[in-house]
Amino acid sequence: MGCFALATQPRPMAMRRAGLLGRHYASPFRLLCRQISTEPQAAVDRLKESGLLKTQGLIGGKWIDAYDGKTIQVQNPATGDVITSVPCMGRNETTSAISSAYNTFSSWSKLTASERSKCLRKWYDLIISHKEELALLITLEQGKPLKESLGEVSYGAAFIEFFAEEAKRIYGDIIAPTIDDRRLFVLKQPVGVVGAITPWNFPLAMITRKVGPALACGCTVVVKPSEYTPLTALAAAELALQAGIPPGALNIVMGNASDIGDTLLESTQVRKITFTGSTAVGKKLMAGSASTVKKISLELGGNAPCIVFDDADLDVAVKGSLAAKFRNSGQTCVCANRILVQEGIYEKFANAFAKAVRGLQVGNGLIEGTVQGPLINEAALEKVETIVRDATAKGADVVIGGKRHSLGMTFYEPTVLGNVSKDMLIFRQEVFGPVAPLMRFKTEEEAIQMANDTNAGLAAYIFTMSMPRSWRVSEALEYGLVGVNEGLISTEVAPFGGFKQSGLGREGSKYGMDEYLEIKYVCLGNLKGT
Ligand code: ADP
Repeated sequence: MGCFALATQPRPMAMRRAGLLGRHYASPFRLLCRQISTEPQAAVDRLKESGLLKTQGLIGGKWIDAYDGKTIQVQNPATGDVITSVPCMGRNETTSAISSAYNTFSSWSKLTASERSKCLRKWYDLIISHKEELALLITLEQGKPLKESLGEVSYGAAFIEFFAEEAKRIYGDIIAPTIDDRRLFVLKQPVGVVGAITPWNFPLAMITRKVGPALACGCTVVVKPSEYTPLTALAAAELALQAGIPPGALNIVMGNASDIGDTLLESTQVRKITFTGSTAVGKKLMAGSASTVKKISLELGGNAPCIVFDDADLDVAVKGSLAAKFRNSGQTCVCANRILVQEGIYEKFANAFAKAVRGLQVGNGLIEGTVQGPLINEAALEKVETIVRDATAKGADVVIGGKRHSLGMTFYEPTVLGNVSKDMLIFRQEVFGPVAPLMRFKTEEEAIQMANDTNAGLAAYIFTMSMPRSWRVSEALEYGLVGVNEGLISTEVAPFGGFKQSGLGREGSKYGMDEYLEIKYVCLGNLKGT
């Protein structure tokens, strides 16, 4: 992304279109966080008071503007209002951030695991004690409903807590020697400076699940958050400094994505790239890592099948599919992208599912009761429109929704398409929006074949009450994550990652540590000597 500001709308009009000047505008937010105001400017003021609305990059522990003074505006997707501006950085700032991470590596990596663990634990505590401010930031810059943002803060913080604990569990090996005067050891050591590039859909959690294990292992990090959602990253970094994570261990740069990316790729001091985002950018980073042979982990796009068998519990299947599809308005890489329904339950499921989707309240995420926020930008909205137009032109029925929402901005109606077929774009492409396509199948074999007929392999879901079928189908699916009778399966304690073109490596869990460690074999010889 280059350094530019998106056009903004006049505030009152933008707010009216986003439903902020209507009946709900003055109503108190009675749910979980009744003390959080629903008025965006009040939310921004509250964040300013808290000291967590940071508007500069972080290099070597110092808050810094772009060297040439350029900035990018950060907008609220629900209203079009500019929240604030952040520096538009590029090659020079990234080079400084890499040097600072490189210099800090020698001291941070030499701390004991217990010392690193204590810093991470303190960071976790600070994130939790600022849960509301962080959630507000997420909703303001990303658009998801406040309740989901609070969920993301808990989920994101959990990675820091988990990896604070894992820091103390990095084990090596002793191998039986093949020559009797030798001893063979395996050590695990931090890989070095890590470049972490993250997307906008989880502005906190996608950062903590990379930075948590990296710091736990003794690595230092340069993070490039998405330019759409840099504020949550900056607030989290401020809390990291307060937690005693040393200056230079965590650096944040943002601005010109390809310049920052290229600088990270070209540097011989950066030993690892970790990325979450589109498959297209992931492939570029993989190719770019070749010149300096970096370790790389990639969490890329999905095309998740959600298979509902005739023997499913209907309520469980509807609830699970709804959660798997409509979380974050369909903007996650594990969102159900194709709902495959066996012919015996198709009509019953389609009716119950459409009824549930009809009940989803769309609006500004700060308003009580909202469960569907806006899409991140106009390009995302146009992509959804193209995919829906293609499906209906090829014979899909619009069961409900199918168009832009009357709220305007980037709101789209929660949509269910019926009788979708394999020749439609939606079968191959991630829609990344609130559109649920239903497809019919006859047999288990056909469902597995349809589910695996894609280059992606991140998440899959199945709904069945048969235990043997659960095992059979889980094993046959070419996916890194499988949910059985569950629509929300991500957790810090389990490995997250894809098969095929959905990526390389795993995040979260004990497996997530290995991505930041090198294995060193030490042969201690000549033991019979003096
Ligand atoms: P999305 O479509 O979800 O925004 P992207 O892959 O475009 O996914 O973006 C994910 C992250 O990758 C963002 O931080 C974005 O700025 C960054 N990015 C995009 N293009 C490049 C690039 N050429 N090099 C490095 N990072 C990039």
